[in-house]
Amino acid sequence: MVIMGPQGSGKGTQAARLAEHYAIPTISTGEIFRTNIAKETELGAEAQKYISQGELVPDSLTNAMVRDRLAADDVVRGFILDGYPRNFAQVLELDTVLGDLGFWLDAVVQLTADRDELLARMAKRAQIEGRADDTPEVIAHRLDIYDEQTAPLVSAYAQRGILVAVDGTGTVEEVTARIISALGSLVG
Ligand code: AMP
Repeated sequence: MVIMGPQGSGKGTQAARLAEHYAIPTISTGEIFRTNIAKETELGAEAQKYISQGELVPDSLTNAMVRDRLAADDVVRGFILDGYPRNFAQVLELDTVLGDLGFWLDAVVQLTADRDELLARMAKRAQIEGRADDTPEVIAHRLDIYDEQTAPLVSAYAQRGILVAVDGTGTVEEVTARIISALGSLVG
């Protein structure tokens, strides 16, 4: 499955909890980039230029990384993609990669929250995690990119009949329960 939602919607937190619930791995492109930055790899150095500005990392780098990750053995029973796809080109690339591997998407979870709630949560996260891309200017830019490039993907997945929209407000536990119940028979 894919989990989608703007920055601050609790996407990463919920992805981790769903991974535990369904006993499948989470593939978070943002996390993979951050790990590469921390390890000072070539990919990390390249990605950092974009991430620090709140821009999307070029598709060529991101797609290759996801293709590589989906080829690992641990995803055969399922996986949760967190932060990918983020634009239409990535949707198409994901279709191709999944087709090549004989996989498919059961569900796309969309976490919703209004912008004020998102900004409040991200300001809090910035204090706790100290992420370099959680400054007010970069946060605003990332939310704009989400609205322009990522939010439109929701309707594409809705047309396929696999979209599950879930209210992302409330406690972490409430939201997880809501998602699992909404996924119902789509994911088993
Ligand atoms: P995230 O942790 O999902 O908010 O991702 C942090 C940053 O990593 C984003 O603001 C982007 O710069 C980059 N990133 C993560 N996933 C992608 C993606 N699918 N395509 C392009 N850039 C990405």
